[in-house]
Order: sequence, then structure tokens, then C-alpha cells
Amino acid sequence: MNHNDALLKEADRCVKCGICLPHCPTYKLTQDEGDSPRGRISLIQGIASGALDSQRAHRHLDRCLGCLACQSACPSGVDYSRLIDGYRATRSQTRRQRIIHSLITRLPYQGWSRIGLWLYTHTGLRQLLRPLIGKKMRRLDDLLPNRARLGSWRPRYPTSSPKQGRVGLFTGCAGRISDRPALDAAIAVLTRLGYEVVVPENQGCCGAMHQHGGDPTSAERMSNVNQRAFDNQGLDAIIYLASGCGAQLTRHPFAAPLYEISQFLNRCHWPTECQLNAMDCTVGLHSPCTLKYPLELTNEPEQLLRRIPDLRLVCLDQIDCCGAAGSYLLEQPAMSDALGSRAIRQVALQQLQFLATSNSGCALQLAREVRQSPQTIRTVHPVELINQSLNNHP
Ligand code: SF4
Ligand code: SF4
Repeated sequence: MNHNDALLKEADRCVKCGICLPHCPTYKLTQDEGDSPRGRISLIQGIASGALDSQRAHRHLDRCLGCLACQSACPSGVDYSRLIDGYRATRSQTRRQRIIHSLITRLPYQGWSRIGLWLYTHTGLRQLLRPLIGKKMRRLDDLLPNRARLGSWRPRYPTSSPKQGRVGLFTGCAGRISDRPALDAAIAVLTRLGYEVVVPENQGCCGAMHQHGGDPTSAERMSNVNQRAFDNQGLDAIIYLASGCGAQLTRHPFAAPLYEISQFLNRCHWPTECQLNAMDCTVGLHSPCTLKYPLELTNEPEQLLRRIPDLRLVCLDQIDCCGAAGSYLLEQPAMSDALGSRAIRQVALQQLQFLATSNSGCALQLAREVRQSPQTIRTVHPVELINQSLNNHP
């Protein structure tokens, strides 16, 4: 069966009932059938059968976040992920998409470009160049922390406690910079609990952006790189922090089982000397789409944070996709901004000290929105709160 026939066969399972429509963030925003899952499936049917090839149809499909809220709501079991990824794989990537993917996933983490990035974020270069780089590049620049920590991790971190096991830590690509405080917190918590932490130097991007951006061949190559990096390390588990990366990593088998960090911390043994100390604060807990739908791990961060005495948790279940969605925030800026603002408007910010989320893209998007509010709210990964609680001495 050729690629288009396979797409048509899957699309035929859609009975056009419309049950998915109220779950779709883009449809809720525009109320346009073309921006709904049912509409997009019809467009894919038209394109795959050769009956349709219009810019307008492609625009509606490009505006899909790939959040999969529709797939989880569908009573007919339509594999929407297969449809949208399959459709995107039939389109050649634009030059702009290739540049964005390279800038996010490869360039800043290697050799000279890393030094260039350090100079850019630690000297006056950023202030000098920012007004000159254009609106689109400024969005990319917005994602960089003020003084990006770019140093490498050591290949292994021994534990000073009685050893419980040896785990590998997946750092990702952009997460090496944006998730740095969370990754450092994860190393601190895991070693404290008795795990030796291995951070393979030769690991790379998970490939999610390529998989969902129409380049499954590159995604496959990246997956092979990660398998080679982790599979001969004698690990008991491989741990990831960003749910967007986790959803991609779980598509391929590794020699050791994969765990999201909260999932791992909820299951491992906590020695009696590792007490979580009280934190008198209110935390809004955001659940990224990748954690909710493909991974189905929504309850894990909540369960973990409820262990911290005195911490008041507000689960922000009412928030739809925040509009980050991998490179979507750069490729569809208007929709992404509208989704981000709508998401944050649904949160009573005035009561929060922290906004916790388990995905780096969502953290960047929500942090940008939160910065525009008068409240001082820190956007964190749940593991940063766990580390802070472990170190809070009464
Ligand atoms: S995708 Fe599923 S829920 Fe949506 S219209 Fe088709 S059959 Fe109905
Ligand atoms: S993946 Fe998300 S944005 Fe795309 S059609 Fe489904 S619900 Fe809508």
C-alpha cells in the first residue's frame, strides 16, 4: 500500500461525528471548520486523493498544533497523529523550517557556535544586535535565558548515599540551555536518593521537531544516535524531563526502561534521611499536551508535588495547549501568541508564587506570558521544587 493509500485508509475511519471539535484549541480560537480535526482530516483526504491542492488547505493543516487532544477524544479511534505526521511527510520542508529546526536542535550546542552563543548572551552583543535581527529572529532570541549556562555536564555523577542504581539522564538539545536549572536539580535529587547519574556526552536531539515537521528520516537518525549513546552504559533506567522529548523517545526501544522524572521519583525508594521539607507557597501545575495524551502521565507531577508539606497545589486542568508545540511558536507566531494569552487568562495568577510545567517549550511560552503580568511568578519544572524542598532546612 503506498503512502497516500495508507493515509486515506486511516482517514476513512473518521465518521465525521464532530465529537473532537470542542477539544481542539485551534477550532475553539477560530471557529473555522478548516481549523478543526474533522476539517483537517477531510483536507488530508482531499490532498491524498489528488482532488485538492490549495494554499488555503495547507494553511489550515500547518496551523494544527499536533497536540492530540482530538485523538484522545475520538470514539472511533482515529489515529490523528499518523494522519498529520503522514501528511507533513509528503510536503517538502520550507527553507525557513529547515533553518528553524537547525537553529533549535543543532547549532548552538556544538563547538564554535556554543562559544558564539556564550558571547551573545554574556556580553553586550545581544543588546547591540537585537534591534537589528528582525521580528522573527527576535522571537527565537526571546527563548534564550539572559545568561545562558553552557558548560557541559560531567559524564557521570556518583552518589554519596548507599547506591540504589545507575540511571542515564536525557538532556535533549534546546533543553540543554532552557532546562539547565531543572536538569541540574534532577542530578542533585537523584544522587541524593542514591542513584549514580550518567549523562552521555554523545546524546543529541530527540527528533520530535523533525518527526512532526515532515522529516521522519532525520528523526530516525537522531533516535539511532541516542540509542548508541545510552544503550551500552549498563543503566537501570533512562530519565527524561521534557515531556515533548519523552513522547518521541518512547517511539523507539532502549536497552533500559524510560521514565519521566516525576514518574521515576514516585516509584523509587526514598531513604529516611531524604526528607522533603515544608514549602509555604502556592504552585499552579500545568499539564503539557505531550504528558496528557501520548504519554498519559498527567497524574505523576501532581502526585510528586503533593509530597511536599504545606505546598498548596492548584491543578490548571482548564488550560488547553499553550501554543508552544515544538517549533510552532516560531512558525505560527500569531496563533501561538493567541493560544498562549488565552491559556494564561484562564489562570488566577494573583494567588501563585510558582508555575510548574514538565515541558521546556511550554515553560518558555508560559514564562513569556507571565512576564507580562504584574505578579512575580517563577516558572519551574516540578523537580526544581523537589530539590528546593530537600534543601530547605527547617
Ligand atoms: S476524528 Fe473521531 S471524533 Fe473527530 S469527527 Fe472523526 S470520528 Fe468523530
Ligand atoms: S492535534 Fe490539536 S490542534 Fe491539531 S486538530 Fe487535533 S486537537 Fe486540533
